[in-house]
Amino acid sequence: MEPAEGQSSGQVHMCQTILPAHATHRGELSAGQLLKWIDTTACLAAEKHAGVSCVTASVDDIQFEETARVGQIIIIKAKVNRAFTTSMEVYLKPVKLLSPQDHLEHSLAIEKRRIRLDHEHVFETLMQESNMEDCHCDNVSDTEEDTISTDLTHVQSIELVLPPHANHHGNTFGGQIMAWMETVATISASRLCHSYPILKSVDMFKFRGPSTVGDRLVFKAIVNNTFQKSVEVGVRVEAYNCEEWTIGQARHINSAFLIFNAVNDKGELLIFPRVKPTTKDGLRRYHGAIARRRIRLTRKYILSNKEDTRSSDLWDRSNQAYLSYSNVATLTVLATKCGWEITSSLDNIKIFTHEESDILSVKVKMQVRIPSNLAFFLLSDFRRRRQWDKHYLTCEVVENVNEDEKIYHITSPSVNGEKPKDFVVLVSQRQPCKTGDPYIIAVRSVTLTSVPPSPDYCRNEILCAGFLIHSDGNNSCTVSYFNQVTSGVLPYLATNLIGTSKSIEDTASACIRFLELDSTKIYSILF
Ligand code: ADP
Repeated sequence: MEPAEGQSSGQVHMCQTILPAHATHRGELSAGQLLKWIDTTACLAAEKHAGVSCVTASVDDIQFEETARVGQIIIIKAKVNRAFTTSMEVYLKPVKLLSPQDHLEHSLAIEKRRIRLDHEHVFETLMQESNMEDCHCDNVSDTEEDTISTDLTHVQSIELVLPPHANHHGNTFGGQIMAWMETVATISASRLCHSYPILKSVDMFKFRGPSTVGDRLVFKAIVNNTFQKSVEVGVRVEAYNCEEWTIGQARHINSAFLIFNAVNDKGELLIFPRVKPTTKDGLRRYHGAIARRRIRLTRKYILSNKEDTRSSDLWDRSNQAYLSYSNVATLTVLATKCGWEITSSLDNIKIFTHEESDILSVKVKMQVRIPSNLAFFLLSDFRRRRQWDKHYLTCEVVENVNEDEKIYHITSPSVNGEKPKDFVVLVSQRQPCKTGDPYIIAVRSVTLTSVPPSPDYCRNEILCAGFLIHSDGNNSCTVSYFNQVTSGVLPYLATNLIGTSKSIEDTASACIRFLELDSTKIYSILF
């Protein structure tokens, strides 16, 4: 293992030849071994960046796409995306990557952290919902004959932590614990399918406390639920040192939920039998597995690249964190794309366009003589937008989610005698995390059941729009407005793009006037 030449701080590559000792009896790289290598590479990247010894604190969701076989070479690349005060995010991918987009990944790291912090809250809300549903109907059938008791899948195992399992401070490697968890969970899943289960994903989890050489680690696993072609196995890890062992006092190290598939000899996915929990805890975990699956599917759906086919997603407790993430992420990705072509240029307004397959995006860059924080303050409240944007007829807040996220209902005036349009949009605003980062105001459509389409308006969608505000000094900033053009906004922009109308420039001038004038008013109110 060696860091490649020319790598920036916090980047590490690991190359490994897959030997029989790393593989399952089928000659495929074992997921446990891969988790160990991933963890080691990530840890080394974090240490290279921080200059001190690091341990794994938490792991984001991991998806296993392909299997690698004995004789193949695997390259694992780890890179520190962003350092927080006492933690770091390390990006992992056990395959060759495209050229690294450092800036982009750095911006997105903070959004992923929001998801991590929100995850528990979302899960609790979904569990409360399932408790309420349970009061009305018990949807775990105990009369069906083909259900199998989860008791049959109970597996317990113990490992003694020895020096090779730990770093030089004696702290057990997170990857080693994950590998042991995978072994126990695989045995648990195999009780249901009588074939070799294949690990597909691991839900995000955090290490709750350290474990060191000499600890006895007890792994307890049981199937929580099955979903046709997949099964969720939960594993709880407890640690005892020698004294704790004699008095039976355990430390809870972590818990994780692993999703497996199983295939037959022809490589076809097997159907898992339905399971029946037998205890109160089992029933709670059965519902927990359903809630986690809902979160997983939502994330997969929202984070997949499907911008061109997407109709606006339902704003719902299970996906709010992902919609906010995708809102900020999509704008950040659009802003960092190469190939923006300048279409028109005035002193303080420049218009750019970007074409990619059938998606056209517009960027309007405005120089404004006010501080960036004031521009952010004035632009992030969309109710003020009517003051400068003639495409906004009305704009009201329909859901005040939190101080960074609001949902607005916007109506636009009729153009060329057509029915007026309306939009329901999520506006996510973000302050810079460090000097040089922009203020972000991201906009995308969402579906809100409380604001259904009305016959008076033609409901339209915004895929990706918003502002990035960069400071140019104490009293000036650059405001870049982005909009991915969909059929809804095209009529407003089309004429300008062929150069006959000044509509974008007019709107941009109005925006600059509004910012510069209103800021004077606001200054006089504030100071
Ligand atoms: P929860 O019960 O809320 O899921 P835990 O941390 O107690 O959280 O357990 C995590 C998972 O580990 C459980 O969902 C279950 O699948 C498994 N597990 C916990 N305790 C046991 C046990 N005593 N025997 C077998 N499996 C267990």
